Amino acid sequence: MELLSGKSVYLTGGASGIGKAVTETFIQEGAFVTVLDKSAAGLGQLKQEFGDRVLCIEGDVTVYEDHVHAVEAAVEATGKLDVFVANAGVFDGFAKFSEVTPEAMSDAYDLLFTINVKGYFNGAKASAEELKKTNGNMIFTVSGAGFYPDGGGVWYTASKHAQIGLMRQLAFELAPDIRVNAVGPGGTLTALNVIGPLKPFVKAVDPDTKAKSIKSRNPLRIAMTSEDHVGAYLLLASDQSRAITGEVISSDGGLAVRGL
Ligand code: NAD
Repeated sequence: MELLSGKSVYLTGGASGIGKAVTETFIQEGAFVTVLDKSAAGLGQLKQEFGDRVLCIEGDVTVYEDHVHAVEAAVEATGKLDVFVANAGVFDGFAKFSEVTPEAMSDAYDLLFTINVKGYFNGAKASAEELKKTNGNMIFTVSGAGFYPDGGGVWYTASKHAQIGLMRQLAFELAPDIRVNAVGPGGTLTALNVIGPLKPFVKAVDPDTKAKSIKSRNPLRIAMTSEDHVGAYLLLASDQSRAITGEVISSDGGLAVRGL
């Protein structure tokens, strides 16, 4: 049985990494997926791979009208909207509070919070009315950094805590019509970008070193890939989780049981 047969999904940041893996799985499970991403090249590739099961829209999650346009396009293509996945995000590269200048910290805050937090709010606001009609649900990609230190620098960690707060408040306000949940991946091998203002303050890490570091930091000793997280999204998007709202499913190799 396909878990998402006939479902219409709107997802941000589907041109790469975790969002792309979720898009692929959702399509395999019977969904039609509308993807908003700023990467024209990534969207072109997505279209090539998934043809008429995906609608690709180039845009920026910080622009509210881009979400409105994407929701309208999803509804025009499928007649409805069942699921919104807020996923597009950027990283601060573990930039250290004590090493970054106040000016760079200020620029980094504006950029990172506008994408990671306001971007999620914008998508939720633009899709809520359509989701209400279908008793649909929202899923936010958060992070282990939404619970613990050392999953990023101050702004990334703060933004992931903020996303969890936003998710919980929306789950409260939108019940009983719309379920709102999150998936919290741990460190994962993707192309997640360090924002411009912080680049001079962080060291570039090669993929091998990154894989070793991720593996050594979680109890299950997994160098996680995007595909490792898709099961959690699938459960939350499907009707198999109709009693779940306001929750985070941690998909992080067991960060909660790291011990002292
Ligand atoms: P990624 O860079 O592979 O994918 C992010 C996608 O978002 C890209 O396609 C990018 O073009 C898009 N994007 C970025 N800014 C955008 C904007 N302003 N407007 C539209 N699209 C934009 O990275 P990823 O690791 O797959 O990240 C996806 C989510 O997973 C993020 O929210 C990230 O914080 C979260 N996450 C990642 C990790 C990790 O270690 N990679 C761990 C936990 C959580």
